[in-house]
Amino acid sequence: MSSEVEYDCIVIGAGVQGSFTAYQLAKRNKKTLLLEQFVLPHTRGSSHGQTRIIRKAYEQDFYTQMMDECYKLWSQLEREAGVTLYRQTGLLVMGPEHSDSYLLYKNTMERNNVPMVILTPENFSQHIPNVILAEGDGALVDINAGVLYADRALKTVQGQFQKLGGVIRDKEKVTDITPGPVVTVSTSAGVYRAKSLVITAGPWANKLLAHIGLQLPLEVEKINVCYWKEKVPGTYDVKKRFPCFLLTEGEESDRHIYGLPSNEYPGLVKICYHVGGETDPDHRDKQTDRSDIGILQRFVARCFPGLIPEPAVVESCMYTLTPDSHFVLDCHPAYSNIVFGAGFSGHGFKFGPIIGKLLCELSLGEVPSYDMSPFRIRRFQGNTKSAL
Ligand SMILES: Cc1cc2nc3c(=O)[nH]c(=O)nc-3n(C[C@H](O)[C@H](O)[C@H](O)COP(=O)(O)OP(=O)(O)OC[C@H]3O[C@@H](n4cnc5c(N)ncnc54)[C@H](O)[C@@H]3O)c2cc1C
Repeated sequence: MSSEVEYDCIVIGAGVQGSFTAYQLAKRNKKTLLLEQFVLPHTRGSSHGQTRIIRKAYEQDFYTQMMDECYKLWSQLEREAGVTLYRQTGLLVMGPEHSDSYLLYKNTMERNNVPMVILTPENFSQHIPNVILAEGDGALVDINAGVLYADRALKTVQGQFQKLGGVIRDKEKVTDITPGPVVTVSTSAGVYRAKSLVITAGPWANKLLAHIGLQLPLEVEKINVCYWKEKVPGTYDVKKRFPCFLLTEGEESDRHIYGLPSNEYPGLVKICYHVGGETDPDHRDKQTDRSDIGILQRFVARCFPGLIPEPAVVESCMYTLTPDSHFVLDCHPAYSNIVFGAGFSGHGFKFGPIIGKLLCELSLGEVPSYDMSPFRIRRFQGNTKSAL
């Protein structure tokens, strides 16, 4: 099928970032087409699953500061659509009290006046029962952090986009892109034209960017999403106000381990390791590395006495990592009407509304609402391959 309609903008990829970008464009009265290779909803990218953590606790001021507006945009979407997408649980941050990483979290939160409670070894178990705080670890709680209902959020933002007149075409894989003042996008089912293009293809970013002569230093990892069974149902339940948590480093690893209270699967707590095995997104399930699960088992046995240290359910998801774990939000160096968002490095969901706003602003040629220097591709210097 070839479309005679010329869109203001085409967005490739209906994950959280593409869906919010399309929604922002439609809110600005732009005629927008959102293309997705799989039938929606699907579980083959990075945005599926029932929950994600939302938090202001970060090591960098710029992320903490962006979250101010982001919380407001999430609740605006909730009001517009009449749905609940966020549940406050708090986020417990733990880590060696004098380590760089733990102190970065603590200091960033203090500097930015993020509401928090600092726990001591003496009062820890009174506030957080059934968790063992390691000797020498500090603990604090980001009070307004919580859970985002991810699948519901995606459905909601896509629904609001359609209500605003936006068009979604799923099961249409983009196979070619021809740049120009009017960009031509070919899919498995048709050819479309638009004044501008936004690429938000998640783990497939470099496959799409290859069509326009660009390659970013991205690594795709498969993450084993593990759920652990409570010995006594309800011990770590969201209804009992058990918080989300993040361990900056511990006995098992110097990388993050994080978790969410039992919620989506009653009696099961989600706990994951922030590192996975490298994979190709088209062959995700060929990656069978389970070394992360061993690390998690040892962590669960040491710190969560109320859980059986053997995962009851293991699901799959993918991270797309940049070398510095910061996002990529930029325009193509040669074609200013082609914009991309990529490399969300396993922490991009909560930022969906702001990423959508920023990519919308970039694609309209406006000055972005935030300092974009941490997100520009020029930071990779010789690491970006351009075939132009
Ligand atoms: C296990 C796990 C836990 C996480 N936890 C958190 C958390 O607690 N908090 C948080 O903020 N973030 C978290 N994240 C990160 C967050 O989920 C991701 O950063 C975010 O979902 C990335 O969204 P995306 O839109 O970039 O990618 P995706 O969701 O992968 O979307 C890209 C879309 O593009 C489509 N596409 C690709 N190629 C084509 C093509 N050729 N034609 C058409 N369509 C195409 C894909 O099919 C896909 O639907 C987590 C991620 C994982 C995997």
